[in-house]
Amino acid sequence: MQFSDAYEKILSYDFLDDDTKKHIYLEDGDKHMCRFCGEGEDETVFDKSAHAISEMVGNRWLFSYRECKKCNIAFGNTCEDSFGKFVLPLKIVSQVYGKKRSIGYSNEHSQIKINKEDAILPEFSEDIKALIKSNEENSVLIPEKDGFILKLVRKRYVPQLVYFSLLKMALTILPFEEYEKYVHCYAMLYAVSREEEKTDGINVYGFEEFIPGPERFKCTNAELYRVKDMSGNRPYMYFCLNFGNYSLQIPLPTDQQQRGKSISVVGCKHHDKSEIRILRFNEFEEIFQCHFSAVMKEVVGEEKERLAKCLNLEFQNRAE
Ligand SMILES: [Zn+2]
Repeated sequence: MQFSDAYEKILSYDFLDDDTKKHIYLEDGDKHMCRFCGEGEDETVFDKSAHAISEMVGNRWLFSYRECKKCNIAFGNTCEDSFGKFVLPLKIVSQVYGKKRSIGYSNEHSQIKINKEDAILPEFSEDIKALIKSNEENSVLIPEKDGFILKLVRKRYVPQLVYFSLLKMALTILPFEEYEKYVHCYAMLYAVSREEEKTDGINVYGFEEFIPGPERFKCTNAELYRVKDMSGNRPYMYFCLNFGNYSLQIPLPTDQQQRGKSISVVGCKHHDKSEIRILRFNEFEEIFQCHFSAVMKEVVGEEKERLAKCLNLEFQNRAE
């Protein structure tokens, strides 16, 4: 059975990366109550800093009063670093900038810099926004017949914390009437954020959908899907976080389903050309690889000299 046959979309926040939009603060009723620690306005502080969806994937306007300042800081300290390291290559491929105007990557052999607006070598060309510098050995670029493979080594992250980052976004936008089905999940998240719960033994999974080429997601958006037929063994809900060429997806089995027998999962396909793979959040994926179609061009003569000057590189004359 296809995902679209089994599930219907019940909620979607679109154009999260549109920075002209008015800020929206999700809340449950008149008085603020933190969904994670359970404290209200009298016991804890609510400010305007809690993002409902991570700003690292471009969310500019969807905030949350469903989370107090203490919980926001705790989640930030525990989960954000791992989530950032995991999504960085996906952002590079998709040119999704998050809160900054550029994205970068570097290791001892290579350096990548992509600017959102500004030319990267303005003296050479106004059109070039991205630059990859690399040694021939251990390059992040492996040439192929019709393009190249981008191969990045991720910095060490905790894969389970990537899952919990996604779960936190899902449970933040979850409609209040579904709250009771996920009480244990909220408690689990609280414990993880306070490092009261060991995460290394936790065996959770999701999906990564990749749409190759230019037909990608038109904006950053977050979606919740609910199962149509509740009598089966499918997870009650799904959360999809879509940005650039990627959709990160996690099933959201209810507390009851997690205690029950095994459930069957399937990835959500947003596009005919999508490739979907299972994400195992108990495995550190050190190497990220992605194929690009590209036309190669060798720079020669005066242009090369100018480029060299701009790059401040010393081309050595090889006596051949
Ligand atoms: Zn709280």
